[in-house]
Amino acid sequence: MEAAAGERLEPAAVDELRASFGGELITHADPGYEEHRQVWNASIDRRPALIARCQGVADVIAALRFARNAELEVAVRSGGHSFPGHSVCDDGIVIDLRRMTGIRVDPETRTARVQAGVLNGELDRETQAFGLATTAGFVSHTGVAGLTLGGGIGWLHRKHGLTIDQVLAVDVVTADGQFVRASEDENPDLFWGVRGGGGNFGIVTEFEFRLHEVGPTVLAGAMYWPMKDAPELLRFYRDWIAEAPDELTTIPILRRAPSVETVPAELRGEHIVAIAGCWSGDLDEGEAFIRPLREFGSSALDIWQPKPYRVHQSTFDAAYPHGWHYYFRSCDIAEMTDEVIDIACDYGGRIVSPVTSAALWQMGGAVSRVDESATPFNGRAAAHTFNINGNSIESEGADAEREWAREFWSALEPYHTSVYVNFLMEEGEERLRQAYGADRYDRLKELKRKYDPKNVLHLNQNIRPD
Ligand SMILES: Cc1cc2nc3c(=O)[nH]c(=O)nc-3n(C[C@H](O)[C@H](O)[C@H](O)COP(=O)(O)OP(=O)(O)OC[C@H]3O[C@@H](n4cnc5c(N)ncnc54)[C@H](O)[C@@H]3O)c2cc1C
Repeated sequence: MEAAAGERLEPAAVDELRASFGGELITHADPGYEEHRQVWNASIDRRPALIARCQGVADVIAALRFARNAELEVAVRSGGHSFPGHSVCDDGIVIDLRRMTGIRVDPETRTARVQAGVLNGELDRETQAFGLATTAGFVSHTGVAGLTLGGGIGWLHRKHGLTIDQVLAVDVVTADGQFVRASEDENPDLFWGVRGGGGNFGIVTEFEFRLHEVGPTVLAGAMYWPMKDAPELLRFYRDWIAEAPDELTTIPILRRAPSVETVPAELRGEHIVAIAGCWSGDLDEGEAFIRPLREFGSSALDIWQPKPYRVHQSTFDAAYPHGWHYYFRSCDIAEMTDEVIDIACDYGGRIVSPVTSAALWQMGGAVSRVDESATPFNGRAAAHTFNINGNSIESEGADAEREWAREFWSALEPYHTSVYVNFLMEEGEERLRQAYGADRYDRLKELKRKYDPKNVLHLNQNIRPD
């Protein structure tokens, strides 16, 4: 196995690359190999021939040229959180951007320049130093780059829009090794494509984001009810959020209560329905708005309170650590109908694994007010996006969790509308066409033919040029 991972590499060629490489080159013979080939999802176990840990743009260009000359398959890695494991490959090269963590916030213009290896938590730390933030995901160890290239949803998307709606410009190394900048004024076709089309058109080395005043204190957390209350609670919730201002983003979650400090011992492991949320506006107005939810029935736990935005941004880290076995199915729905609620409650009540869950991200607000054609992202009209996570800590039990997730997803099929590309597994071209919608997909294919006609960058939700 180890020989296969290295046998296609010419040692002399690697030495030549190493001579001018600023970062680190790791082959299977190097001590860091096992550590650096790992990705977040332990279900993915691949052995690249070379891991090029780039220090800057020059390394990215050199690594990509090397890969093309050696005819190596190319995987690009930022945070390593791709659910289907697109950022690592067998026998090819991983262009690993994780060392590129520069962030420069300009508080005057409320913008930030962010290198491609930055994680959500690192971006929040720098921006919150100025009382600013941009829409980023709800787990601090997820990569900003992969998240942004697919769309980017988080606790601020209803107030400020998707992460792609905050992108002002990107630096890109295209598949043929050229460095270009893309914005509304420069290479606008590429700028359109990278805001939802993933890493199909080039390797983004830096983003420029628009920032907003956020917090630093937000009203956030979760309330839990016993699963038996879920059908009634979710009907109440549906009516309550119909009037929700953009300041509020919520996620109903069905799972077994986690074994964490904030959850009382007697509740741990019980099937529950939680409403997690974040109010990013005036705190008194927020308290008034969430009161009816707080007063609904008898909640088993209420940990929704004022807290620093950055603290809330890492609340869910412990629920999605590196090294567990993750499986994921997703769909958007137009409406939380009684039928959808009943299906969700049925499958929620049957959860076996303590780390399996179904989360229903509330969409709408600013996301829905951006023109559908402005970016490749499809799903601006969705009411909720479903994350059905069939997870297990060890590989044992993973098959049963996957089966549960697949069945749950299938039961929802009559209600599927779009799907968020960053929540797809390996699901085939037809599903990708559905994810983008036929018109946007055809436009993305056109763009792929222009920027990567040989499909060098295909380890992603691949938009094939043919
Ligand atoms: C624990 C967890 C929490 C999540 N929470 C959210 C959330 O709150 N909101 C949300 O929107 N999504 C969320 N996601 C989904 C997430 O957006 C995707 O998994 C995303 O692809 C992760 O990006 P990454 O850089 O960490 O991943 P990687 O695995 O490094 O990359 C993912 C894909 O993007 C490509 N890519 C990465 N960087 C670049 C680059 N610089 N240039 C070109 N291509 C690149 C890779 O080749 C790969 O195809 C979550 C995922 C996980 C695992």
